[in-house]
This record gives sequence, structure tokens and C-alpha cells, in this order.
Amino acid sequence: MKAIAALAALFCATTAAFPQAPADTQKIYVGVQFGQSRLDRENFHESVVRDDEATAYSLLVGYRFSRYFALEAGYANLGEYTAEFPLFCPGGSGCASDFGETSIDGLVLNAIGIWPVSKHIHLKASLGLNYHDLNASLSTPGSDTQALKSAIAQSGAQHVRDTLTSTLASLDADMHAEVLVLGAGPGGYTAAFRCADLGKKVVLVERYPSLGGVCLNVGCIPSKALLHTAKIITDAEEGAHIGLGFGAPKIELDGVRKFKDGVVGKLTKGLAGLAKARKVTVVEGTAQFATPHTLEVETKEGRKVFSFDHCIIAAGSQSAKIPGFPYDDPRLMDSTGALELADIPRRLLIIGGGIIGLEMATVYDALGSKVTVVEFMDRLIPGADPDIVKPLARRIEKRYEKILLKTKVAKIEATPEGLRAHFENADAGAAAPAPEIYDRVLLSVGRRPNGKNIGADKAGVNVNDRGWIPVDKQMRTNVPHIFAIGDIVGEPMLAHKATHEGKLAAEVIAGMSHHSWEARTIPSVAYTDPEVAWMGVSEPEAKQAGIEYDKAVFPWAASGRALGMGREEGLTKVLYEKGTKRILGAGIVGVNAGELIAETVLALEMGADAEDIGLTIHPHPTLSETVFFSAEMAEGSITDMMPPKR
Ligand SMILES: Cc1cc2nc3c(=O)[nH]c(=O)nc-3n(C[C@H](O)[C@H](O)[C@H](O)COP(=O)(O)OP(=O)(O)OC[C@H]3O[C@@H](n4cnc5c(N)ncnc54)[C@H](O)[C@@H]3O)c2cc1C
Repeated sequence: MKAIAALAALFCATTAAFPQAPADTQKIYVGVQFGQSRLDRENFHESVVRDDEATAYSLLVGYRFSRYFALEAGYANLGEYTAEFPLFCPGGSGCASDFGETSIDGLVLNAIGIWPVSKHIHLKASLGLNYHDLNASLSTPGSDTQALKSAIAQSGAQHVRDTLTSTLASLDADMHAEVLVLGAGPGGYTAAFRCADLGKKVVLVERYPSLGGVCLNVGCIPSKALLHTAKIITDAEEGAHIGLGFGAPKIELDGVRKFKDGVVGKLTKGLAGLAKARKVTVVEGTAQFATPHTLEVETKEGRKVFSFDHCIIAAGSQSAKIPGFPYDDPRLMDSTGALELADIPRRLLIIGGGIIGLEMATVYDALGSKVTVVEFMDRLIPGADPDIVKPLARRIEKRYEKILLKTKVAKIEATPEGLRAHFENADAGAAAPAPEIYDRVLLSVGRRPNGKNIGADKAGVNVNDRGWIPVDKQMRTNVPHIFAIGDIVGEPMLAHKATHEGKLAAEVIAGMSHHSWEARTIPSVAYTDPEVAWMGVSEPEAKQAGIEYDKAVFPWAASGRALGMGREEGLTKVLYEKGTKRILGAGIVGVNAGELIAETVLALEMGADAEDIGLTIHPHPTLSETVFFSAEMAEGSITDMMPPKR
């Protein structure tokens, strides 16, 4: 210790003799850590470095526009020497061996040296970083000179700084990833797999044992498996209209659950296999940022630190809650609880008439529950064009116990008989239905992004008041090496948006930087019965934006295929730009609308017009013809109906 104190004192004396760095000098901290030294992660930018023992460390400071570099020394037990020592290094003596000065993106990067401050480090430890004459040599084990070299070899001062900082972080971590993906939902696993395919070393962190996130485990996939069950029941029920009688269905909930869980299991196991085949390291545990280059993960084996060059945040969303409801009562469910299918409630109240609420209503109605849907707005699926919601509303009004619009549930009381819901009219003071008791209540009033639960502030990542993480067109957050994708970055919260964004972020990180967020539309589908699907500009949006448009609405009552299925309530509505007849948007309601909308999405992406679709031969008789007929209506060439009057 004495030796160190003496050395530090010598630094003080020596530095006084050398000119100080100019006052406006901007510091950049880069560093390499050796031996047992531990970096204080929290205060890295303040360059506080602690030393447990007399092992050596160096933290180096490069000065912008100066020919000096400084050694910033700080031993926890030598507090008086923690100040910064600007040092004109005469070369040799273990200082930087190379004084090459280089300019990268306006940054003058001086030679960066490592000063051995302990008797335990090899004096010859030195690192010369010069853009033109790369020379890195470290005799200390565990140091990653290669990353430093490659950092310098690449242009971009920011990149140099990032990579050096990342290298420093990696020396202190349990594992280093070129790309660390936080969250293994559709966004996260897609990003991880694409990064791996593009040659990156990837770590994928997920708090649950199976990959796939909300969508595969408790969202898109199990809900669609149950909707399939529901469809078989209602199709059989409606067979009576065409002379078929099957009798009341015998529902074995265990079997229904087994089918649903089997579908989920196949997909999640498949993902695990794909991760393995791509050599993606999957880590199970809950993650929080510790610094801009490290993530701490609570695993079953304890806390682990992962450092990264790039990170993709894909931590998704969770069900929104209304304060004051009795959440400890299992009869009050969120969508995950509803998908568990614990029983078939005699009376089910669904709070929220959006996509998720109505899909679950479809399932439980088919299984035999008396369903009531309560929606605060004046219509169901408020985000969709009312024209395409009407056929669905007409059908479910007949099937469900009640649909209460412009109504909210103000209070839920847990009673032995059930959950008593108290209603209020959306217009304050207006009459509301009397309280009712339900066997179960499903709360589905939207989803909340997880931005506030991942310690984003420790990484300097901006998260807004509502928990969203703002990103640019390349999915980059305000911290250039950290990206965010999927539900956590904004609406629409849909799996296909998350996967698209995941691929984009991966490709940008891999250097395909010409990429940006260019999708013209993200289609939405409610897999209700009938399905409701839409994309592009809706008619109300076109009106509001003052877009000049023409529309073609083809009623399915004129479709041979729809009639043959006994489901003629559907309609296909396409909006075209006035004059050019380029497709602007489409809305479809009817059986399989979710499949049919894809053609219109492709048409929009390709800039197709009504003629392109109308001259494309569609197979007959299919529901896909309804898109084709709508194009013919826009063209005035339809023959299966009277052409619209001009
Ligand atoms: C009932 C239901 C039905 C749906 N149906 C559809 C549908 O049909 N079509 C559609 O497109 N979308 C559907 N969605 C929406 C879809 O599931 C989401 O848009 C999609 O899952 C978002 O993907 P993501 O990757 O952004 O996040 P998520 O799928 O939410 O994944 C995020 C992952 O991050 C993990 N995570 C979060 N925080 C941490 C942490 N601190 N540490 C470690 N791991 C963490 C989570 O455990 C989760 O696995 C549905 C959603 C629900 C609830």
C-alpha cells in the first residue's frame, strides 16, 4: 500500500509540472479493468473504481481536442487520491506506448494508455490505440483486446466510445453478449433468432420457463385454439338451419384445455429447439438494467450480470387494471385467467368491448355461459370502422344476455353468491342498469406496457409516463446501442407488429442500416364470430383527415360461397383514392375475414389500384372473391351485381 501511495503522490507532483488540459476539453471515459478490481457499476461515468486489494486497475480518460490523456485513479481506501490526474505521458514506463493521434468523426482520439499502479501488474501492460497503427497488447488475463481493436477499426467516435464502454462492462460480467434481448415474446425471440442468423452472439433473457411471451403462452395462440373449439360448437348448433341436428354438445373441459395446452406446448417447444439450433443462449430470470451496458438477472442460481454491446428491449405488456377491484378473488379474471378455463360460469360479465374481451365472449358464449359485455364507449371495438362492426354486433346481440354500451363498472363487490357489479352511465348522472351478480368477471380494458419495470433509468433509456419507450424509425431508443420493440414501444399491441420490429432492430444492429420502419399498414383482426378485420385508412379516418376517397362495399349476401356457408351477414369494404383508384384501406367482416384481409394488405403495400385487383383472377367460389368484386364495383365492371350508379 505504501508503494501505491507513494506512486500516487508522485503522480500529483509530476502532473503539476505539465500543462493542464484546456478548460473546454470534453472528456470521454474509456477503460480497461484488470485483476480482481471491481468497477462500481452505478458510478462508472464518474470513474469511480474500487480496488479490493492491491491488484491493479486503470481507468483511462481520452480528451477531445487535446494531446493529453489522464489517468484517473481512485482506491476506495485511498480517498485522497481519487482526484483526476491529467498526465502528460512521456511514453514508456508502462504508459501508452503509442502517441498516435487520430480523428474519427471529429473526435481526436489520443493514445490511450494503461498505467500500472500496482506492483502486481506486469509493467509491460500497455495498450496503444491508434487508428492507423493498431497495436494492443495486454499481459493481463481476462482482458479483451480484440474488442478494443475492432472498436478502433470501425469508424464512428460514438461507436468507439460505446464499444470500449461495453468492453469494460464485459470484464466485470458473468457473460457478455453482442446482442442481449430482454423478453422472449414474438418480438424478442424473432429479434434474437434474426440476430443469431446474422452472425451475432445472442443472449435471450426471459422470466418464464417457456419462450413465446404473451402471444404463444397466454394470448394469440391459446385464444385461437379455444375459438376453434367454440366454432365447432356454434357450427354444430347452427346445423339445425340446414337440416342437421347434433344435440347439445358434451363439453369435457379437461379435453378442451388439453387441446389448447397441447397447441401452446408444441409451439413453445419448437421455439426452444430453434433457439438451441441457432446457439442462442436462453437465460431464465427476471432482468433489470444495472448500467447502459449491463443487465442484472435474478435466476434460480442467483443474481447474474450480463454485459452487452447492443440490447433489444422486448419486455411487452400486461393487462391493465381498474383500481379498487377485488383482485384477490379468483372469480375476477384477466385474459390469462379466462384462458385457463377453470369452469364454465353460468353468468359471465366481460368488462371491455374490445378485441380481447369479445374473443373471450365468443368462447364462453359457445361453451354455454350467459355473457354480458359492458363497454364505456358508444360502440364495440371502438378502433374499427362501425360499418364492419355492425354485423358482429347484430349477431351477438341475439346470442348474449346483454351488451351495455356507454356504461362502466364502477365497483365490484365480492359476495358468497358471486361478484356484484355496480354500473354507471358514461354520461355522468344518466340512468345506469341496476347492480347484478355474476359468477365470474373478466376484466379486459386494454394492456399496459412494461417500460417502468425494467430499471430503464439505470441505462438512461427514456420511458414516458404511461410506460412506453419512445423509439426512432429503426427502433432505437434515446440510448444509441439500446433498441426497443413490440408492445413496449406503442400501439397497436399486436404480435405481427412485434415480430416485424424485432427483425428490423436485428438487421439494423447487424449493419443493414438502410432499413427503417416502412410498413404502410399493420392489419388488425378480431377473431370473433364473425371475424372483423381492417387495415390502412378506415372511412371515419379518411373523413377526419380530409382524404378524397371512393368506396366499394360488397355485401356477402351476393357471394355464392358465403350463402353456401349460411353466413351471408358479412361485407367487404374497400377504400380507394379518388382519381387514381389506389387502394387506401379495407375492412372486412365475415367468416375468415382475418385471412381475407391479407390480400388487401399486400395490395396496399404494392400500391395496387382497383384495376390491379379487378383484373387478378380469383378462384370461384371463394370468400376471396369479395375483395375482387369490391374492386370490380370500384371499376364499374361488376356483373354479379348491378354496377353502382355513377
Ligand atoms: C388474450 C390475448 C390474445 C391476443 N391475441 C392476439 C392475436 O390474435 N394477434 C395478435 O397479433 N396479437 C394478439 N395479442 C397481443 C400479443 O400477444 C402481443 O401484441 C404480443 O405478445 C407482443 O409481443 P412482445 O414481444 O412485444 O411482448 P410479450 O409477448 O408481452 O413478451 C414479453 C416477454 O418479456 C418478458 N419479460 C417482461 N419483463 C421481463 C423482465 N423484467 N425480465 C425478463 N423477462 C421479462 C415477459 O415474461 C414476456 O414473455 C393478444 C394478447 C392477449 C392478451
